[in-house]
Amino acid sequence: MIIAVDGPTASGKGTIAKALAQHFGLPHLDTGLLYRAVGYQVFLYDGAPDDPVEARAATTFPNELLGHPELRSEATGGLASRVSVHPGVRKALLERQQAFAGQPGGAVLDGRDIGTVIAPNADVKLFVTASVEARAKRRWQEMRDRGESHTLLEIEDDLRRRDERDRNRAAAPLTVAPDALVLDTTALDKDASIAAAIEAVREAMGKTS
Ligand code: C5P
Repeated sequence: MIIAVDGPTASGKGTIAKALAQHFGLPHLDTGLLYRAVGYQVFLYDGAPDDPVEARAATTFPNELLGHPELRSEATGGLASRVSVHPGVRKALLERQQAFAGQPGGAVLDGRDIGTVIAPNADVKLFVTASVEARAKRRWQEMRDRGESHTLLEIEDDLRRRDERDRNRAAAPLTVAPDALVLDTTALDKDASIAAAIEAVREAMGKTS
């Protein structure tokens, strides 16, 4: 069973994808991490994230980079969103993602274009979303817990910028696949979001328990 989980930044899709993978006993790939690794590799090279050739060259990042704590930072998230607009970058990461999705038994992948480009034949497609205010508040709390101080407004502005870039790029923009189930987590906490996602997958698979 292939489960595709797409959605904007801080919508809860990562948490949901991880929980679905655990619940259904499937391997999970956070595809955003691949774009973050490319963004961070460009930074390490002192390269230009907006340059398609330099960004493409960074897709050969070493595998160990995927475990680097800096990949989770807001700054790297911003770089990832910039390198991900280049079709050459997306193409270079495509095969790796499709190989993961195609492994025997299936997988859960989360990202922006899983249900539309990477695994258009996924058995279940979820599009996880939430209001920008709710997403900013969650991100603000996470950052506060990590000891980073940003105002709610700064975070909201950054999310809007990233949403705009992800939705309006020419290559694989963030969009709801016509056959995706939309899960709005604005009014749901973590446990309720996970429960709703599990229920949605069960229903989609025609299971009763
Ligand atoms: O999901 P995450 O915030 O880690 O993704 C970082 C950035 O990588 C996103 O803002 C998006 O621009 C890009 N991305 C993408 N396609 C994916 C996953 C992430 O373009 N499948």
